[in-house]
Amino acid sequence: MVDTFYLHLEFKNKTGNWSVNLPFLCSKCGVCCTLDDFLAAGEITAKPQEYPEVHAKMKALTEELGTMFEANEAKYDKYIMRTPCPFLADKTCSIYEIRPMGCRLFPNTAFGMLTRDCEALNRFKKQRAALKKGKAAKETCHFTDASVKASKCTEKQLQACTIKLSRAGITEEELALFNVLNEQKPCV
Ligand code: SF4
Ligand code: SF4
Repeated sequence: MVDTFYLHLEFKNKTGNWSVNLPFLCSKCGVCCTLDDFLAAGEITAKPQEYPEVHAKMKALTEELGTMFEANEAKYDKYIMRTPCPFLADKTCSIYEIRPMGCRLFPNTAFGMLTRDCEALNRFKKQRAALKKGKAAKETCHFTDASVKASKCTEKQLQACTIKLSRAGITEEELALFNVLNEQKPCV
């Protein structure tokens, strides 16, 4: 489960540079929390004294998995492939505020970008491809919890992007966020 991020896509045309922000909107479906290697997401981002129960649970689990791995690697592989993260409750992260860094970034990681299990990511990739089709673009990734990088485009360019995104299957929620992220003019 990720904090929402967006790509800042910068294009060049005859009259100069223009740019647009394309958001990734996590639908909080919880699917990534059922993928294998959830423990590879790293250590929880809080001190043991602040969340002793969570740390104790994580420690016990790490030890259990370590023992399982040493005893039977094949059984261990099978187990982590099929077992959801123990902190997932009703498709929601029960330790969201202190979840590991890997969870905070997923799917904006090399491993995450490769997965086909995240439907929001599959849509996002389609939208990115639609905007970039036939054009070279410089892209940088940003999180929406920081101040948003202003896009620079004409109304006509923004409209053309919206049409391409609609054809690529953007949802209403994603489109609403796209509009918010591109409100920061100057639109020229
Ligand atoms: S699989 Fe994708 S949409 Fe679902 S919770 Fe994970 S990052 Fe969010
Ligand atoms: S810690 Fe939370 S966000 Fe990370 S895999 Fe587990 S349930 Fe998902």
